[in-house]
Amino acid sequence: MSRQTVEFAVTAAERLNESLNAFLQIDREGAVKRAEETEKNRDQRVLAGVPVAVKDNICVRGMQASCGSHILGDYHPPYNATVIERLVNAGAVIIGKTNCDEFAMGSSNENSAFGPVRNPWETTRVPGGSSGGSAAAVAAGIVPVALGSDTGGSVRQPAALCGVLGLKPTYGRNSRYGLVAFASSLDQIGIFAREVKDVARVLGVIAGPDPRDSTTADVPVPDYAATLDGNLKGVRIGFPASLFGKGLDEEVGRAVKDVVDVYRELGAEIVEVELPNAGYAIAVYYIIATAEASSNLARFDGVRYGFRAEETPELRQMYRKTREEGFGPEVKRRIMLGTYVLSAGYYDAYYRKAQQVRTLIKNDFLNAFKNCDAIITPTTPTPAFALGEKVDDPLAMYLNDIYTVTANLAGIPGLSVPCGLSSERLPIGFQLLGPYWSEPTLLKLSHGFLKVQPFTERPPVSA
Ligand code: GLN
Repeated sequence: MSRQTVEFAVTAAERLNESLNAFLQIDREGAVKRAEETEKNRDQRVLAGVPVAVKDNICVRGMQASCGSHILGDYHPPYNATVIERLVNAGAVIIGKTNCDEFAMGSSNENSAFGPVRNPWETTRVPGGSSGGSAAAVAAGIVPVALGSDTGGSVRQPAALCGVLGLKPTYGRNSRYGLVAFASSLDQIGIFAREVKDVARVLGVIAGPDPRDSTTADVPVPDYAATLDGNLKGVRIGFPASLFGKGLDEEVGRAVKDVVDVYRELGAEIVEVELPNAGYAIAVYYIIATAEASSNLARFDGVRYGFRAEETPELRQMYRKTREEGFGPEVKRRIMLGTYVLSAGYYDAYYRKAQQVRTLIKNDFLNAFKNCDAIITPTTPTPAFALGEKVDDPLAMYLNDIYTVTANLAGIPGLSVPCGLSSERLPIGFQLLGPYWSEPTLLKLSHGFLKVQPFTERPPVSA
């Protein structure tokens, strides 16, 4: 059985790659071999024989880790990320590495050095970013589960645009060891799936402290799958009315308000909440994320990893030319912005100020959660936009992240849940945000909603 399942996944990944470009590497031989072993040993582990796709910025031993960048090229890390170690120990079969925006910087997957991923619902549209390959692979039915990384929305946003579930866990819930760093205080590995129980199972496997990542927390890992059912009576859902105004697509706004009505019917109590500093979130995020990126990406210098520019006998020239040729335009823009906001004279005006406002944003949530158990928002302001539509306007692109960056700034968990299709048959998602370690609540809420309003439609490009 598991051999058949894995072969189906690998074949679908290969066949659909021409139209989706979702995978940068597919490991047919290795995956089939591991599936055969699973079958032979009658493996009973939780994820035995489950095919999983992994974003190409998470290290898997024996596979590439390009991060969607030429500068890493065909770099093959000699070790597994902790989350991979745990998935493999639970029996999962990694079938390949998925396409993404270069170093996870982007909202549309158009910043990959290896071409954009296409949305399986409409291949002239973006899948969202930066984990677009993982989202598309799950949406197209290639794999039931995929991993991505979420620094400012890169799991939840493509999940919404592709019509699947996307979870960004609490900061520190799972290890970042082996995730190539973009902005370390915001980065978190997240999960894509079509079923809530799959998100729950995978989270249970990858969560928990890791001695190799000191930012993981020693908080008990509950049995997430055991608490999905249950009454939503009396659960308090916060509704931040101010986030449902300007800039939000009408259909998306209506769809999410309909979800609120469903929750009301299920017995939840809807309470108005305010997030007074949410309006600063994009500015704060793009200062902090670029500052941390400029530092993290200093390590790509032509000495340690992957690509090195040719004919550069002098050291500084070698660094310069390697970075000039190896990085794409968005990554360069971020490094320049980040270096600028950290530079003497500007540090106080930008970086320090951004950190102060980050605290205000976090406190907004802590205050709101005194009156509610979760907050509902749209995941994205619009459904999937056209390829090329926003590439020349970085600010318009950054505004896509308006609903998602706050969770990373505050460190709280967020889950995007599909709630229907637009008039153009493009998926719409809503987002649930909760207090630290409230993953069980978010999973239970999404499960309860999907029981009454299941999302069963399949995209035209499908396995
Ligand atoms: N779109 C955001 C950015 O470009 C978020 C990316 C992410 O979460 N990795 O920074």
